[in-house]
Amino acid sequence: MAKSIKQLLKDEDKRQQETISLIASENIAPPEIRQAAGSSLMNKYSEGYPQKRYYGGNKVADVVEQMAVAVGRKLFRADHINVQPYSGTPAMMAIYFALMKPGDTAMGMSLPHGGHLTHGHKVNFSGKLYKFVQYGVDPDSGLLNYDEIETMAKIFKPKVIVCGATAYPRQIDFQRFGKIAKKAGAYLVADISHIAGLIVGGQHPYPFPHADVVMSTTHKTLRGPRGAIIACKASLAAAIDKAVFPGVQGGPHDNITAAKALCFQNAMKPEFKRYAAQIVKNAQALARALQKLDFNLITGGTDTHLILIDLTNKNITGKEAETALGKAGIILNKNMIPNDLRSPFDPSGIRLGVPVVTSRGMKESQMEQIALMIAKVIDKPKSKSVLSAVKKEVAACTKKFPIK
Ligand SMILES: *Cc1c(COP(=O)(O)O)cnc(C)c1O
Repeated sequence: MAKSIKQLLKDEDKRQQETISLIASENIAPPEIRQAAGSSLMNKYSEGYPQKRYYGGNKVADVVEQMAVAVGRKLFRADHINVQPYSGTPAMMAIYFALMKPGDTAMGMSLPHGGHLTHGHKVNFSGKLYKFVQYGVDPDSGLLNYDEIETMAKIFKPKVIVCGATAYPRQIDFQRFGKIAKKAGAYLVADISHIAGLIVGGQHPYPFPHADVVMSTTHKTLRGPRGAIIACKASLAAAIDKAVFPGVQGGPHDNITAAKALCFQNAMKPEFKRYAAQIVKNAQALARALQKLDFNLITGGTDTHLILIDLTNKNITGKEAETALGKAGIILNKNMIPNDLRSPFDPSGIRLGVPVVTSRGMKESQMEQIALMIAKVIDKPKSKSVLSAVKKEVAACTKKFPIK
């Protein structure tokens, strides 16, 4: 008989407790944020913006959204912020609708080099509606080549330049991107979804004042609910708000707005700075330990929350590594590496991120232990005894660092 949803939710709690998630885009939202997301605000409709709603009964919803806006603006150092986007993809859609007309030219980072689908990939609305020119990373260093991006911007004269990534282990030079965009007469959109927590936690430079528009999801390093925000310069505020509602969305998810307000309040606290610093320390400890075990890291290391491994010297593909590690209780994803000769379904790399394990309280010594476990599995991915021994080690480790 099929399991009930109630039982499946319990199964998922257990799965999360008993595995080590190294998925770079995931995190563990604290209990009060999950509570807000499941609160009675879920039942409310409030199309429009505070004090300008299309429904009655918004006394509480208005104050909640105004609080999220007030704290969010401070947190991102923005002139204006819209806290209604359902997720990163609709937020990017609203930004493009506000800044471009279909058929306009834009520039974004290519997906196989670390960009996101919404940065102009041909299967995504962004690649279908706009003429996206894609930049990548230098094949030898794995780093963004700003001179080349500048030359491309001069030639293609895009209306919008998007910077930001899902699999780039180094800091992004927003100042340089800002100069490139200004010279080309383009708007600079910074998609900080992955690194927002590192930015507001003091581990990475801020995109403002170099960017015109900043988009971030709230559920990655920021440790909030599933959702997104758009921050922008004052001159673009009206266009962005109109593009979100009524352009792309209907009623905001007020329960999630409450959870975002809590997330922003948490991120303003001194503890969050320590958390962000620990994320980078953990990623660097994991990177050093992996390098000692002869793993080849793209760019030679990390200064963010994530690591990209090129597995070509290890006689295993990204998909095989993901599957074998999964059997041992270590969850991560296969990933394209720059100039990958394999297919996206079975690429040459894997991506590792430490936000979840850092939220669970793990520190540098656990990162060394995790690196060793990964090496054991990658060396003998088909050995049942190795997989079960590592699984036991994972169980002991996760028990010591429960999800609250
Ligand atoms: C996660 C992510 C998005 C999309 O967010 P969803 O909430 O999955 O739609 C967009 N851009 C970047 C860089 C991301 O990492």
